[in-house]
Amino acid sequence: MAQAILRIDLDALRANWRALADMSRAETGAVVKADAYGLGMARVAPALAAEGARRFFVAIAEEGAALRRILGPGPEIAVFSGHMAGDTALIREAHLTPMINDADQLLRHLEALRHHPFGVQLDSGMNRLGMEPAEWAALRDIALAQGPALVMSHLACADEPGHPMNVQQLQAFREMTDGIDAPRSLSATGGVLLGEAYHFDVTRPGIGVYGGDPFAEARPVASLRIPVIQVREVAAGETVGYGNSWMAEHPTRVATIAGGYADGILRAMGPRAWLMAGDTRCKILGRISMDLIGVDVTALGDRPETLELLGDAQTVDTLASWAGTIGYEILTSLGTRYARDYVGG
Ligand SMILES: *Cc1c(COP(=O)(O)O)cnc(C)c1O
Repeated sequence: MAQAILRIDLDALRANWRALADMSRAETGAVVKADAYGLGMARVAPALAAEGARRFFVAIAEEGAALRRILGPGPEIAVFSGHMAGDTALIREAHLTPMINDADQLLRHLEALRHHPFGVQLDSGMNRLGMEPAEWAALRDIALAQGPALVMSHLACADEPGHPMNVQQLQAFREMTDGIDAPRSLSATGGVLLGEAYHFDVTRPGIGVYGGDPFAEARPVASLRIPVIQVREVAAGETVGYGNSWMAEHPTRVATIAGGYADGILRAMGPRAWLMAGDTRCKILGRISMDLIGVDVTALGDRPETLELLGDAQTVDTLASWAGTIGYEILTSLGTRYARDYVGG
């Protein structure tokens, strides 16, 4: 079988969520946008609900509707993009809670679904989503009179604890929200780690639950084993892969494995990337193809059945550093061709 196996450890996922929840006195939600960061909302969300999560966050209403089918009635499902034109029926039928981002969305929501829950998203400086302070000042009495389910904002630099932007955004958020009755939320994973001043009433961790930085103590959740299709001996002076970008200096045993950039193994990581065979590191040789990669297995005595790209030795952040990106992008790039094998939960 040449299908690679992406193993998702639901016990580790639950332990990560629990560890983040134990860091604050706030209610801990869970961000499951982008199919739970590529790991599969259908299995991830129920595992987090079983661990105690009661508020879930997604990016768009369609994700929210899919999540409602998975979770059933009960948990709150908040939608960061708010109440967009065309979303009303989904919001009503799936009982979603749009995070209102501006005056137009507020008007749309109150006209179409006056007694349906909503939250408010404020811009405390990131300039991505949410009402600016002046807009909020004009609308807050109207919005607060409806009893919003949540008033939230998002930190731009929370993965850098010493960054002055954190204090600046905290202050801006407090200026906009101190004294209101509605529950407040400012922090994703990074903000949870910044400490109590950032926790407010609800936290919204994503990446830390999935085993990524900046939650350094996270247990890895995803591991990836890729089958070896062929092994060949390559003589000095021969090349491997497209563009002849790697040439053997010595006789080298090369394994061809069944994974490539179509599976989210980013081509850019090629020159720095390794696979593990037990404790032995095996270097990627030449370019990563769409479905195949050459790997140096000269150091191995036996022909390996599989090689491990993601696991305890190499995390999503290790791969991210090879590709010049972040663990989030590694996770959400994981393709659909893997056999997803859920364990625990
Ligand atoms: C994605 C996202 C989160 C979760 O962020 P992590 O860094 O993955 O913990 C929380 N809030 C908002 C608004 C987001 O877009």
